Amino acid sequence: MEGALEGALAVPRRVLSGQAATALELCDALCCSVEPRGCGPLLSDLAGCVVPQHLRRVWKREGGLQVLLCVAGDEAGAAAARKHGLQALPVRVPRHPPSNAQQADSWSALHWPVLFNKVLAARADEPLSEAEVGAMRAGMRLAHAAAHAAALQGQRRNGCVIVDPASGAVVARGEQATEVGGEPCFSGWRGDAPCGPHPLRHAVMAALDAAARREAAMHPKRKRQEPGEPDQRPYLCTGWDCYTVHEPCIMCAMALVHSRVRRVIYAQTGAQGWGVGRLMGVRTLNHHYEVFQLTADAQCE
Ligand SMILES: [Zn+2]
Repeated sequence: MEGALEGALAVPRRVLSGQAATALELCDALCCSVEPRGCGPLLSDLAGCVVPQHLRRVWKREGGLQVLLCVAGDEAGAAAARKHGLQALPVRVPRHPPSNAQQADSWSALHWPVLFNKVLAARADEPLSEAEVGAMRAGMRLAHAAAHAAALQGQRRNGCVIVDPASGAVVARGEQATEVGGEPCFSGWRGDAPCGPHPLRHAVMAALDAAARREAAMHPKRKRQEPGEPDQRPYLCTGWDCYTVHEPCIMCAMALVHSRVRRVIYAQTGAQGWGVGRLMGVRTLNHHYEVFQLTADAQCE
């Protein structure tokens, strides 16, 4: 199965909110001026129109409030402004999050106000050791092997392994199994028997399911951990690393937040560019993991 990936793996690249922010890059967006009493209704209509989390949605200026409607290419924001009789105006905004507080201040003064995430920025400065790079390459090869096994079953080529970095042990392994052969799928996600194909059985979800089954087998009568109890794991994947061939989708990325993984390492960027890297830019999440991309010199697709 190791032969599923031929060729060397590159050096891991740290991903921060999709792209690491090292220099100011502007992109097109739309904003509008609005009276304070009209701001709430407008924001309600903008609920489904997502803008990058590092950009402030509402900007209080001397002349009143300015609301960021949408980034270029999203017509929903302009439509919401028209509904409220407001004129959408073009504006240039920072495309990526700032790297430090000073950068955030200068960008905010010159362009659109941005938010700075200290936790993510601090992690971005920590270099990887040679041992960490070697461990990452080993983990990614195992993920490619799981993806190869999925492909042999007629599934999308994607696989995932969850590794304990302290010991190097593989804790759980998952293969993509979303193809159900066109049959309606009524099977539940949970059960005593191993799950078969299911539309939600993405490789990451399958690996988390395997980790949960392992945990349940090891601690069948586990109670909720109380503060100060040192011997029980507080969350399913605390301190562990997740390797997956494809960038996790939003569902899988959020499941990894809930399970408290330490790092997510993927090989191939999601088609929509709206996956795990962007989710980690959400400041209000109660857990952030590091995100890396580790590509293969010779892809196995
Ligand atoms: Zn997914």
